[in-house]
Amino acid sequence: MEQALPGAASTIAIIGGGQAGGEVATLLRQNRFEGRIVLVGEEKYLPYMRPPLSKAFLAREIGKDALIYKASVAYEKARVEMRLGSRVAEIDRRAKTLLIEGWAPLHYDKLVIATGGRARELAVPGAGLRNIFYLRTISDVEALQPLMEGPRRLVIVGGGYIGLEAAAVAVRLGLAVTVLEGAPRVLARVTAPDVSKFYERIHREAGVDIRTGVTVNGFTAGGEDGGVGAVKCAGGQSFTAGLVLIGIGLVPNIELAELAGLKVDDGVVVDEAGRTGDPDIYAIGDCAMHAHHGFLRRKIRLESVPNALEQARVAAASIMGRPIPAAAAPWFWSDQYDLKLQMAGVSDGYEELAIRGSMEASSFIAFYLKEGRVIAADSVNRLGEFMAAKRIVGARMEIVPARLADESAPLKSLLQPAAA
Ligand SMILES: Cc1cc2nc3c(=O)[nH]c(=O)nc-3n(C[C@H](O)[C@H](O)[C@H](O)COP(=O)(O)OP(=O)(O)OC[C@H]3O[C@@H](n4cnc5c(N)ncnc54)[C@H](O)[C@@H]3O)c2cc1C
Repeated sequence: MEQALPGAASTIAIIGGGQAGGEVATLLRQNRFEGRIVLVGEEKYLPYMRPPLSKAFLAREIGKDALIYKASVAYEKARVEMRLGSRVAEIDRRAKTLLIEGWAPLHYDKLVIATGGRARELAVPGAGLRNIFYLRTISDVEALQPLMEGPRRLVIVGGGYIGLEAAAVAVRLGLAVTVLEGAPRVLARVTAPDVSKFYERIHREAGVDIRTGVTVNGFTAGGEDGGVGAVKCAGGQSFTAGLVLIGIGLVPNIELAELAGLKVDDGVVVDEAGRTGDPDIYAIGDCAMHAHHGFLRRKIRLESVPNALEQARVAAASIMGRPIPAAAAPWFWSDQYDLKLQMAGVSDGYEELAIRGSMEASSFIAFYLKEGRVIAADSVNRLGEFMAAKRIVGARMEIVPARLADESAPLKSLLQPAAA
């Protein structure tokens, strides 16, 4: 059945003031929604960009203002009512209202859930000791920063992107840095063993002590101000620490949706248009388990800025009855030292790997193939070639690995149909 479009007397409410929430708010207006738009965000800041939290902002190279995604004038022009520093306590689907702490209930005609996620906590003895931190928000960085100076001993639990980015910043600031990773290699969930090995080498050369296959099972006091003094690991190993950063992943904020009776499964379950089982409620960004009907052809929850922005575009179009584009190949980036890593696609289940360029020279693209087709690419310091690599992934190009690795032909030329 055709859905009625929300008219000038309607209210669209958005829960969550991250990049997904901030983007969908202004896009609704661009899609000619005439009614009321209200964004409720628990953090006190305008929607901001989290990627620099573990990079330039942590390194104090940029200030807080540079994190803000869009200036307040953008929301004013789009007539978005911003209720920042306010938490939605409940979605009452029957009454179509939001219960917001400190505010009267807010009626909605359409609702977008953009609640993102929170840092996964490490539940081991001593985890509540002083000087143990997580990294998800501006406040987290502000708490951590005063302690980020040499010659303190920083132990980072988790060798994923956030842990490794923070390690790169910290070692440059003069701290003695150890990274403890439970898996046999860093970045194990997202890259090939060769690429993990490359990153381990770069970090070790910079002076970071990378330990893999190490399971942290507790913290003990003994540091400054009675804070953490050591990290305990299975097998009896122990690492001295004056400061600990835990980066072991994200837990999606799905409790509101779950309480409201919406389907959840490691994310708020939505279709390719971003719609939940309730036709008036959408979910986007890190909190959404999305039917990726374009490129991936499966359900997936992605944690990236490009995904948050794309899902905001899809939801805004879908709410306003406009056609939605098929989902493109997901992509992501990570900056460590002078290395610009850009990734396209999802490499899970790959069968073959082709390396174009040189890992020794820190300039290469790793292409992942499955059933003879390119499903993902990790590009390091190949900014000029990444667009072509992304298109090759997007097209799921069928190609022999040797041709991808052959640098005598420009990557772009592989996209052109062969001459007859
Ligand atoms: C340190 C770090 C580095 C990163 N680096 C990269 C990178 O290099 N590249 C990349 O693509 N991605 C990166 N990411 C991931 C990227 O930042 C996220 O994918 C993106 O922020 C998701 O946006 P979102 O709006 O879905 O969620 P979030 O940014 O989590 O925003 C959700 C907001 O909703 C609020 N909220 C939750 N519940 C409620 C409630 N009940 N009421 C009101 N408000 C609520 C939260 O407080 C939060 O402000 C990084 C993330 C972190 C933490």
